[in-house]
This record gives sequence, structure tokens and C-alpha cells, in this order.
Amino acid sequence: MQNILRVHDLTVQVFDQGKRVSLVNEISFGIKKGSVFAVIGESGCGKTTLGFALTRLFHGVNKFSVNGNVYLNGEDILGMPNEKIRTLRKNQVRYVFQDPAQSFNPVKKIKKQVYDALHINKKSERTRELIKLRELLKKSGIENPDEVLASYPHQLSVGTLQRILIVMAVFPSPQLLIADEPTSSVDASLRYRILDFLDEMRRSMGLSILLITHDLEVARRYAEDAAIMYAGRFVEVAPKELLFTQPLHPYTQMLMQYYFKSDDIESNAVDTLSGAVPSPLHLLQGCTFHEKCYKVRDDCRIEEPPLTEIDNERFVRCPYWK
Ligand code: SF4
Repeated sequence: MQNILRVHDLTVQVFDQGKRVSLVNEISFGIKKGSVFAVIGESGCGKTTLGFALTRLFHGVNKFSVNGNVYLNGEDILGMPNEKIRTLRKNQVRYVFQDPAQSFNPVKKIKKQVYDALHINKKSERTRELIKLRELLKKSGIENPDEVLASYPHQLSVGTLQRILIVMAVFPSPQLLIADEPTSSVDASLRYRILDFLDEMRRSMGLSILLITHDLEVARRYAEDAAIMYAGRFVEVAPKELLFTQPLHPYTQMLMQYYFKSDDIESNAVDTLSGAVPSPLHLLQGCTFHEKCYKVRDDCRIEEPPLTEIDNERFVRCPYWK
């Protein structure tokens, strides 16, 4: 199937304390049209930085530099003029941020904020668009859309705010959605309802989704392909079925073992695997995972291995995966 998004050698660096520090390193992957690609990793591994870089949310912030290529339907996002990237963000690529409460202006009613965000300015458009919005809000599980639209953010639960954000993000029909931990602030029962709604939108609209998550179960349920990220790098990329049944990189294996060892998945957040991901300021020489790796050898401490294709659509950053 054709890739709607192609990312090649994407690198994000920041200038910090007079030094150039790499936050995201040589990331390459593609997202097939109408599919979900999950980026899985612990807090601080660079997932959100990657999402920001794909939509050029760093542009104009001098201390960041973004290099590589990001193609959406063959058009290079990183090389686009500013005006075009604004139009692209308005129509084709949308972003769902992590914290719904921070995404709304506390002193404006939801309806006004929805109209402003979606650029529904003309009164004549509003009646027609409101009918569609109500329908989507209902599909997302909001039973009383009119009441919700007439509310201020503080009058609504986090779960309701998150669903409004997702409805705004898929309205009217973008091609790509970047969903950054879209359910991290809601409980487990609501989590799957929200993700089921997103998945329904994917199927009905042909939407492609980059799902950024620290939750392996979420990735296992919804993704078609997935990447495991560690210290700003992809260490394994594979079709979901293979990644979850035959993980090859030692870090992926440890994550899977840790996460799925107990039935109580809620208590096994990926973040508690083995302490924090190393800071980009203090990365180890050689393989960045060597201090925690059960397969480590002497040469792992010298040179960082490249991400290597070992089979069709299957990549591993470890020469000793066999
Ligand atoms: S390169 Fe060495 S340290 Fe890194 S994952 Fe492979 S075996 Fe482990």
C-alpha cells in the first residue's frame, strides 16, 4: 500500500549550554494510507519531539534545528514556505496534544473555541457545520453536545475535553492525525472508548494516524506497524504482529517481558522499566542501550550500530539480535 507520509533521516538538534545536542536521530519510516503507525517509548525518549518536528512546530525557534526529509503525499514538509505549512496544518495534518485541559482557553465557551480553531467564521457556514460537529461529538460518546458546546472548559471533565479535541482534530477530514498520548489523562474504561472512536474515524474517513504512546497495549490493539524508540533513536521497526510476537532488539524484548508479565497492565507502565531514559546531554558512547542490555559485548561500547533492514519492513538497531 502507498505511504501517505515518508520520513527519511529526520534529526532534531538543540543548542544547549553552548553545545549542539541531538534529541532525535536519523529517524526513517512510512505511514500507509488509512493505517496506524505507533511510536512506542518511555517518557523522555524523544517521541513528542519527533511529532513536533514532523509538523514543523519548531519552525522559527532558533535554538532547534531540524534536518532530513518529511514527505506528505510526495510534498516536502520541511522545505515548504510558511504560508503553505499553515494551510497544511489547517486542512491536511492535525495534532492532538497530550493535555486537554491546557489546550483550551479557560475564559471562552467551547463552541467559540471550536469555531475559531476550525476557522468556521461565516454565520452561514455555522449551522451546517454545527450539525456535523454534533453528530461527531455524539459518535465520540458525548450524549449532550449542545450543552457541552455551551460550556466553559472548567465545567467539563478531562475525558469530555479530550473527546472534543479529537473531534476538532478529525473535522472535517484531514489526511494525517498525529495523536500524542491521546488518552494519557483518562481512565482505562474511557481510554478504549476514545481510541475506538478514533479508529472508527480512521476506517470511515481513510485517516492515517501516527500514534505516540508509552502504552504497549494501546499500540498492540490499534497499530498496523510500530517503532520502538529509545534515547532519540528507533531501535526496532516492524509490522505490529511481528513486533509483539517476535521482538528482536534486546530493549524491545525487555519492554515486552516487563509489560506483559502481569495481568495487571495498568500497574506496568513502560516508564517504570528500568529508570529514566538517558538524557541526550549524557549519552553513552557506542550503543546507547549498552548499560542495560543483557546481551552486551565489548564492541557495543565503541560504536553505535545502525538501524538495519533484516527482512521486508523489519529493521533492528543491533547486530546481535539473532
Ligand atoms: S548493540 Fe550490543 S548493547 Fe546494543 S542492543 Fe545490541 S547487544 Fe545490546
